[in-house]
Amino acid sequence: MKFGGTSVADAQCIKRVVDILEGHHKAGDEVAVVVSAQRGVTDQLIAIAEKLPVAKDCSEVPPLIAHLRERHMATLKGAAPDYVREVEEIIEKRLASLQHILFAIYNLRELTPRSKDYVISYGERLLAPVMGAALRQRGIPSIVFDGCEAGILTTAQHGEATALSRSDEIIKKKIGSLLKKEIPVVMGFMGCTENGIITTLGRSGSDYSASIIGAGIDADEIWIWTDVDGIMTSDPRVINDARVLKSVSYIEVMELSYFGAKVMHPRSIDPAMRKNILVRVKNTFNPTAPGTLIVRNGHRDSRIVKALTYIEKVASININGAQMIGRPGVAKAIFSALADREVNIMMISQGSSEANISLIVDESHLESAVDALKPLVTDGIVREITHNRDVCAVAVVGAGMAGAAGTGGRIFTALGKAGVNVMIISQGSSEANISFVVRQQDGPRSVRILHDEFQLSEECN
Ligand code: ADP
Ligand code: ASP
Ligand code: MG
Repeated sequence: MKFGGTSVADAQCIKRVVDILEGHHKAGDEVAVVVSAQRGVTDQLIAIAEKLPVAKDCSEVPPLIAHLRERHMATLKGAAPDYVREVEEIIEKRLASLQHILFAIYNLRELTPRSKDYVISYGERLLAPVMGAALRQRGIPSIVFDGCEAGILTTAQHGEATALSRSDEIIKKKIGSLLKKEIPVVMGFMGCTENGIITTLGRSGSDYSASIIGAGIDADEIWIWTDVDGIMTSDPRVINDARVLKSVSYIEVMELSYFGAKVMHPRSIDPAMRKNILVRVKNTFNPTAPGTLIVRNGHRDSRIVKALTYIEKVASININGAQMIGRPGVAKAIFSALADREVNIMMISQGSSEANISLIVDESHLESAVDALKPLVTDGIVREITHNRDVCAVAVVGAGMAGAAGTGGRIFTALGKAGVNVMIISQGSSEANISFVVRQQDGPRSVRILHDEFQLSEECN
């Protein structure tokens, strides 16, 4: 069971989490827990880490440390009053080392991907001991592990590390062996390389941690506890009448999260899928609601389109030039140049004349991408490269679209009628997704139009 940032935001929330866990413990369920940082803490850590190398002084460090102390101590006192002395010592040690690293980043004027990962793992490092103590306060034995101690071994790709399959065996030994007697608490979001260097798994990475741990212990089910009743037809902050989905397939969740649905980390389905483990998404604040089931083959309901999402922070790159026509190797030159700079390409579309290739990349990768592609113009492989930041990608998701004729027509007719200009269209080979690119300001509107077109707010069997 993984509890997200809002679910552990303060003492009252932690007590609610302990209520849930106590119920399962008493019922004889064996449970391992993964926890995130308290809501907002990871953002604060990222902000200060990125600021320090260029800051004129480091005066913001002590107030941040004081704020983290105050928040975690208040949570501790409320949720585990008998363990205050013991856990305060751990929190103080961790805050002291965090402060040291932040000063070092300022003094060196340097933040490396490695040091950044170390710093941003502190949100989980501060919260997990509080969670462990809160369980002990209720009489449930619990030991706390950081991601590395729990056995999450990863690639060295800092900020976006992927778990190595060897992790399974270590997790089983370290965590699986404890479940009969206690509820181990694992810090989400982090792992380490085989040399013990701390890595993080990408934003929202605790979902991924939960799935890695679940696969490692051969769990019957992986439960993601969050602050909404389940996976919904769209982001409820954009679509106020979005509806909770009873069941979705692994592929559908992957498509949704890949295209920005924040409810799950994009890679978090991988480990569950590998071991065919059922995943449930549930609401910590409404635990009796059934939530969403994520299974290999989502129930085929009468609906072709199930959910919609959009991602704002993307940019398009258009590569033009008649030179590309009929010339083998152009695509190779483009994609190797981008791969060398670790640019993440989200969508690709090529006109049938071959005179144009359009790519959608993370906005943060745009500069590296354009830089990497410049030599292709100089070398005469392509004529011109342009880019546009004022775009967003919208994804229409539903496994039922595979083989169902006419969905594309319905999507683009509805958008056309509303005057939305679609710039790029792409369909993944899984056919569980049709995605397209529109101007940024048209993103939420496109989602609204399609939510209505496919009547997603209405219950169906
Ligand atoms: P946690 O801290 O529990 O990991 P997150 O904030 O990362 O929670 O994810 C949950 C949030 O994801 C919800 O509050 C909701 O606003 C947002 N969200 C975006 N798209 C969806 C969707 N399709 N279904 C449910 N929630 C969504
Ligand atoms: N604390 C991390 C983040 O904010 C991981 C997570 O919440 O899942 O991204
Ligand atoms: Mg999350």
